[in-house]
Order: sequence, then structure tokens, then C-alpha cells
Amino acid sequence: AAGDCTDITARTLRDWALPQPSFDGDKEVRGHVLIVGGAREMPGAVMLAATAALRAGAGKLTIATAASVAPLVAMAIPEARVIGLAETANGGFTLEAARKLGELAGKVGALLVGPGMQDEGATAELVHALLPRFAGTAVVLDACAMEAVRMAGEPHLLDEPKDMAHFRFAEPVLLTPHAGELSHLTGQDKAALAANPQEAALAAARRWNAIVALKGATTVIAAPDGQRWRHEGGNIGLAISGSGDALAGIIVGLAARGASLPQAAAWGVALHASAGEQLSIRYGVLGYLAREISAEVPGLLRTLA
Ligand code: AMP
Ligand code: MG
Repeated sequence: AAGDCTDITARTLRDWALPQPSFDGDKEVRGHVLIVGGAREMPGAVMLAATAALRAGAGKLTIATAASVAPLVAMAIPEARVIGLAETANGGFTLEAARKLGELAGKVGALLVGPGMQDEGATAELVHALLPRFAGTAVVLDACAMEAVRMAGEPHLLDEPKDMAHFRFAEPVLLTPHAGELSHLTGQDKAALAANPQEAALAAARRWNAIVALKGATTVIAAPDGQRWRHEGGNIGLAISGSGDALAGIIVGLAARGASLPQAAAWGVALHASAGEQLSIRYGVLGYLAREISAEVPGLLRTLA
């Protein structure tokens, strides 16, 4: 069923205006972002996502990351509150994190889990523990956190494996896989999936009750109700380490400002791609850095809005 897929253009975005802050509002009104991620060996991913969330206009930022690197992350992002989480032997977080972070539920406007995380089992288990606590909050799952659709948790800790073949989110979250990740999560062949991204994104959205942004040179966003959006843009220079972390950060920042998940995804994908286009004019198509993406966002927001 092709056809009912909206192209994301400057025009589409202008007609789908982002919520604007009131001039007398404070930082609480503009949204508090919580980013959970990172690991001792990959502390940079949460930093990229965090900076991007602030550049997208979020008002307040909390990062929860590996205790071993939390003070370093706090030094690098002076705008953030940084919570240190106890680590598993495999570089994930223990379930104690769910209780600790649960205290922020209701105070946070949008939650991103996944950048830089490792330990698939522990991460899946943590996501399953966080979701009921953050019911009603906009949730974005990226990278390792998307394992929650495939695994219930640490396989060796489960007496009775959950029926993951029929897993569905209680309320739609946003998943941001590239084709390789979606292939891993569904078991589908990557080439087949990449050949028909609209069908693949929609099937995943319906199966898991999620908004699915299937990333690539062309990105397709699908919702469980069948709505789809398509964006083509950016350049090969965006295929670099940390690029997806910046995208996830932009999206969660927009969601904290009050954008719906499909709107935050559509705007985020367009802003990320346009940032790549601007950087390629300045530096060339290769060689710009993921950390340079987010600084382009405020100017783009001004011209696109
Ligand atoms: P990740 O693989 O998670 O780091 O995400 C990479 C990001 O870069 C996604 O947003 C992709 O859509 C984008 N990207 C990767 N390759 C290209 C390309 N050739 N043209 C445009 N965007 C791309
Ligand atoms: Mg990624």
C-alpha cells in the first residue's frame, strides 16, 4: 500500500508547526529531557545526544550514565545534571537504575534511552522496567535500547522467557533503527528490508505498536495507524559515528518542547539532514564531525519555522 506517504519538505514542516514557547514561560514549561545511556568505553554518545536536545530547544537536561564516567560527562556538559548509574560486568546498568530514575517520572517531558549503551540483556531489562514508570511520557528508544522488542532481559536470569514473538508496547514509543538494526531486531534480510523500507517500517510499527523511523539516505517514518512520512536529503557525510546520537537528541529535545513523536521524528530527521547539507558546504561532504551537527540546528529552526 504505497501512496499514502507524505514527503517531508520545507512546506510540510511549515504546515506542521512546532509548539512555540510562550515568552513568559520558564525552563520547566519548555521541557525537561532525560537521556539514559553511555558506558565506560563510550561516554561520548550521551554527550552528543544531550547537546543536540538543548540545541533543539529543550529547557532542562538530565543525563544518567555509567558511574565511572559520570563526573567526566558532567564536566563536558555543564548545562546538565548528571546521575551516575551502577554498572554490570558487561558495561550495562543494573536494575537499580530503574528505581533511581523512576523518581524523575512525572518531572520529565521526554525520555531517550540507548545512546552508547552496551549489554543487550541488561539494557532490554532496564527498558522494560522504565516504561511502566514513565507511562504518559514521550519515549525514544535508540541503538541498544531497541533490544527491548527482541529480549525481555538477561537471558540467563529469566526462569520463563517472555513471549517476545508477540511483544507490543503498551503505548507507542519512537524507535530509530537503521536497516541493519531493524534486520537484527526482526530477523528479516537486510537487503530485502532496504529494498522496501516503507513496507518494513510500517510492518514494524504495527507489530510493536511503535512509531518507527527507519533511517538511511532516505528515512521512512511509520505509525501503527498506517500514517507514513518520507524524507530524502542529507549526504554520505552523515554516515559517521555519533550521527544517530545527534539525531536522537534533536528528536527528544523537540518532544520535550511538546511535539508529538511523529512530528518530533519528522522535524528531527529534516533538521539533521539539513545540518549535514550545511556542514558539507563548509567542510566538504566528508570530514565534518557528529559533534558539529547540533550547532546548526538553532539557525535551521529559525529558517524552517
Ligand atoms: P546511525 O547509523 O544510528 O549513526 O545514524 C546515521 C544517521 O545518518 C541516520 O540519521 C541516517 O539517516 C543518516 N545517514 C546515513 N547515511 C546517509 C546518507 N548516505 N545520506 C543521508 N543521510 C544518511
Ligand atoms: Mg545509531
